[in-house]
Amino acid sequence: MPAATVSILTTQPDAAEVWAEAWAAVERRDKSAREFVYAVTTTGVFCRSGCPSRRPARDNVRFFADAAAARAAGFRPCLRCRPEEVSGEAVLARRMADFLDGQRDRAVTLAELGRLTGRSPFTAQKVFRRVLGLTPAQYQRQARARALREELSRGDSVTDAVYAAGFGASSRVYESAGDALGMRPGQFRWGGEGVVIRYWTAPTLLGEMLVARTERGICAVALGAEREGLKHELRGRFEAAELREDPSLDAEIEAMAQACRESPAALLDLPLDLRATAFQMRVWESLRRIPAGETRSYREVAAALGNPKAVRAVARACASNPAALLVPCHRVVGSDGQLTGYRWGVERKRKILDMEAKERRG
Ligand SMILES: [Zn+2]
Repeated sequence: MPAATVSILTTQPDAAEVWAEAWAAVERRDKSAREFVYAVTTTGVFCRSGCPSRRPARDNVRFFADAAAARAAGFRPCLRCRPEEVSGEAVLARRMADFLDGQRDRAVTLAELGRLTGRSPFTAQKVFRRVLGLTPAQYQRQARARALREELSRGDSVTDAVYAAGFGASSRVYESAGDALGMRPGQFRWGGEGVVIRYWTAPTLLGEMLVARTERGICAVALGAEREGLKHELRGRFEAAELREDPSLDAEIEAMAQACRESPAALLDLPLDLRATAFQMRVWESLRRIPAGETRSYREVAAALGNPKAVRAVARACASNPAALLVPCHRVVGSDGQLTGYRWGVERKRKILDMEAKERRG
């Protein structure tokens, strides 16, 4: 699945956890969380999580895996969000996604997806996009990029990994990897125009952590000594966005802090929404290929990008990284092994590297 929110029910076997996440999705009217419906005992109506109607009190809500189960329990579908139609779409989208998962080594046409679902190619694409938030072609590119990361993290040679991941030619890797990062090139000074950004901060073992996300994914992760400073930094970066506090991100912060300590590779699976120049994108993607517990010098990163002279440009791209931990700029050090700078404090950089080295030694 391309975005963590889409598969909350399938990836979380523990029921209490699932419904806690489902409730969080209802609270933020998350349209992408479509695999369940919620019913309101006071009205007898059931809705999907993105329903625009007034949100019910938690005590009056029951969750069901799908519309049929809610109906069987005596609830009727909401006329505003039409949860039964959406569930039907979710089934179609899932069928297409499963098919695409099995066809990684070739481009699947919309005509094929149309035949698979008994819809027109246009409708098939529309349904896929509405449910999963990206086109079938983007979905395939993301799946390949993710497979590439997995192959590379197993230590295969780059060429083998590229082919194993289903890329025909390695020249396509960079652009597609950019897609997987949720990055769109060419917007150097993006202020968040027309975008709602939800954020929250919470204390972690690395100090106060701020996580901010758009509908598409995480757009900022920052570390600091206190909340107000982090909020100020976020506002400065996204001057034109509508910023909203969202306490439900508390769980995400806790999960990230825990992953950072116990399984840093898991941080690569979180959906990102970062804006960058093409060069920044290439640098950040290459940082994500440095295994946890290892470091590279700025010069090594530049050389890996095919431009050994671009040391200062690489350092600048590291310094402009908006997503601490998820884009591990802390793994880049001076050529003498000195920690040099870190946007969120050199002491913090040392602490993260220590944790990762310890985790690697087991
Ligand atoms: Zn509704």
